[in-house]
This record gives sequence, structure tokens and C-alpha cells, in this order.
Amino acid sequence: MRILTVDLENDLRSHKCKSIEVIVPKLLDFFDDNKITATFFTVSSLLEKYESEIKAIAKKHEIASHSHTHPWLNSHNAEYEIKTSKEKFSEYGIKCSGFRAPGAITTQNHFSLLKKYGYQYDSSLAHFFPGRYHHPNLPKKPFVNQGILEFPVPSFLPAINSSLSYLKLLHPLSKLFQRQYLFYLHPWEFLKKEDLPSGSLIKNLLKRNSGPTAWKIFQEHIGGSKWTSCQEWLKTSQLQNNNK
Ligand SMILES: [Zn+2]
Repeated sequence: MRILTVDLENDLRSHKCKSIEVIVPKLLDFFDDNKITATFFTVSSLLEKYESEIKAIAKKHEIASHSHTHPWLNSHNAEYEIKTSKEKFSEYGIKCSGFRAPGAITTQNHFSLLKKYGYQYDSSLAHFFPGRYHHPNLPKKPFVNQGILEFPVPSFLPAINSSLSYLKLLHPLSKLFQRQYLFYLHPWEFLKKEDLPSGSLIKNLLKRNSGPTAWKIFQEHIGGSKWTSCQEWLKTSQLQNNNK
């Protein structure tokens, strides 16, 4: 069993979320057809505009937090983002027990904040990205840290995370990448290039192989494996029992 995660946020660092209207319904159909349950790490401020869309996802999939407003976390905003997000989901009647930090950037007290606000697990730690995160000894499988279960973000190659962004960027070479225990994607990656904002070099790189090509790359990568959500994975895991 592998874990499929979706980071649900505004489209490519813009203020719009066309992908929740245009792409998410297709993604949900695809998951249905392929008997996939996924975890949607969702930016909770999207609830204000997209309550019905998010509740539709929650019917069949797990909703977890991807912060409240998706800033890079720092010592000033981390507590607000972690706390408010948890409160918002509860206000809207959505169960949320997991957290993923935007950009995989966490603060020193990340795990104690998660514990304080009642999260059960985290999936924010990634191996290495210049100037962003550096966890040289990060385990390759889930582990318990300060009472919180961590699903570390695996990499295909050093500094190349197990995500659709890198499969797209490095396609067709990425066909050679081995599947990891966990994978993540953003719905906006399936939008057509012209529907995505332009700007920085990074934005332009992230737009490579968007749209129908992204669907093809994604389907090829996940085909033939069984995929589930973090919560479903935990139910069958020894780690859960150890943590009780
Ligand atoms: Zn994000």
C-alpha cells in the first residue's frame, strides 16, 4: 500500500483556485474509477469560498490541514496557522488530524505546536532543498517524533521529492524513477499552461508539461500500485499501535 496525497491550495501561488472547480471533480472521478482513497492537505481559508467542494471531497477522502493561508511558516505565524486551520475545519464539521507545512518549511517547535492543537500526524519533513530544508538523516519511512506520527516526504533522487512537480519537470527521464511509499501532487498541475500565472523562473519551470501531459505522466506513475490515505494507512499500521 502506498500513500497518495494532494495539496489543495490556490493555483501556483496566485490568489485564484480555478483547479478546485475544473480539476478536482476529474480527480475525484479518477480516484473512484481506480479505487483510490487519498489525503487532501487543504488550505483551510479555501473553506470560505469552496465549502461545498471541500465537503464533497471529505465524503470519500481524508481532509487534513495545509495551514490556514499557506505562508512559509516562521516563528511569528506558525502557531496562528496551525491553530486557526484546526479550528476552521472543526467549525465546518470536518475531521482533521494531519498537517503538512507549506513548502515543507517547519519551525523549531513544529511538533510541540501540532501536539498542543490536537493533531495526530504530520507530513512536512523532506530531505533537502537548498535554502529551505535540510534533514540529512530523515528516515525513509513513517516514524514517531514527540508523540506525533511523521510521514516524511520521500525523494526519487537526492533533492528530488516524490511529487508530480518533479515528474513533470524531469519528464521523460523521470519515467525511470522508482515509486516511493508516498507521493504528492497539486490539482493546479493539471490546468492548461494558459490558465496558470506567469512570472518567476520557478513558476515557469513548474508549468512544464502541465495539462493533459501531466495527466498522462501521473497515471503512468501511479498505475499498478494500490494507493490510500494517511489515515487509512495508519489504521493498519503497527506505528499507530505503538503510539497508543
Ligand atoms: Zn502547498
